Amino acid sequence: MQKCPVCSSNLVSPFLLRGSVPVHQNLVMCDRISALEINRGSLNLAVCEDCGFIFNADFDGSKLSYGKDYDNTQTYSPSFESYICELARSLIYDKNVQNCSIVEVGCGKGSFLRKLVESEELGNQGYGFDPSYVGEETVLDGRLKFEKRYYDSECANIHADVVVCRHAIEHVPDPLNLLSSVRQALVNSPQARVFFETPCVEWILRNQVIWDFFYEHCSYFTSQSLATAFEVSGFKVESVHHVFGGQYLWLEATIPAQQPAATKNPASISILAKQFATSERELIGKWEIKIQELASQGKVALWGAGAKGVTFANTIDPDGKWIDCIVDLNPNKQGKYIPGTAHPIVSYQQMGDRGITTAILMNPNYYEENSALLKAANLNIDLLVE
Ligand SMILES: [Zn+2]
Repeated sequence: MQKCPVCSSNLVSPFLLRGSVPVHQNLVMCDRISALEINRGSLNLAVCEDCGFIFNADFDGSKLSYGKDYDNTQTYSPSFESYICELARSLIYDKNVQNCSIVEVGCGKGSFLRKLVESEELGNQGYGFDPSYVGEETVLDGRLKFEKRYYDSECANIHADVVVCRHAIEHVPDPLNLLSSVRQALVNSPQARVFFETPCVEWILRNQVIWDFFYEHCSYFTSQSLATAFEVSGFKVESVHHVFGGQYLWLEATIPAQQPAATKNPASISILAKQFATSERELIGKWEIKIQELASQGKVALWGAGAKGVTFANTIDPDGKWIDCIVDLNPNKQGKYIPGTAHPIVSYQQMGDRGITTAILMNPNYYEENSALLKAANLNIDLLVE
């Protein structure tokens, strides 16, 4: 077994193995054949007994392609959109991110950075970095620029007051490499404040959300192991909070005058990880029975063609026998197919025509808004929360 990528400890315990899973969860496919023929790899999760970091020891980045078809946009959901707006508001007003030069690492399509820069009276300017960025490279009269590459030591000439990086670090097998690149890029910006967001693995384990472990995510953090990774990379951790109903971690770090000592606190994560693995087989078995029962009464849909829905479908219905379709509000996904099982992706309005009687909701945070959508469309469909 390899060493812990965060703290270099040899005390690493594998706890969960899922063979032959699709390597992509956020890539939708234009036809059934390419959906069925997606690259596969194994998820071999290991926990570091010393710092609590969890990683896929079998991860092979060469199997993935984050091209222009990659789409993890969640902002088609009003409740996610309001979360993002509140996050931007909190940075601007609570953290006083005004008259600042803001760098976003892994900016995707740039919608979050735009919220921080859009209003001219804030005096902010933004630089978004993402190799998969598609679109104009200079917008908002030059106040917002995008570069189709990684942010690293070669970007040290770009002064940064604030660096934001949301939902990128869990996609890299060597998080210290990402963090030290950011640290080196800030060599001329010693006052910079750094904000990172990533899923909280303790939340996944405690809530037994088996659909939240998947191939695209190869690095999983607790608040403590995220702090360890930043400290080892030369940052001072100011705070780590739980956000988005506890599902995500939000870390703030600064650059200290001297290299800090790295803290390590595995807490009870190793025990939780092993309990999770024991429960997983049982949970999957329960869902297999449940989905067959539901399918015997009427047609079943999943709601949410994001990573959770794709992982659920591939785990519970790998042969596409029980689940009719996947509903998603993102119009770019509708009419396409999920990787692995090739279930079709449809709009919620199409559920009536398809004769769906039950929809299983992949994220409980969206229950209210999705119930309201069904009611407004006069669709009488049972909404189950996963
Ligand atoms: Zn470790």
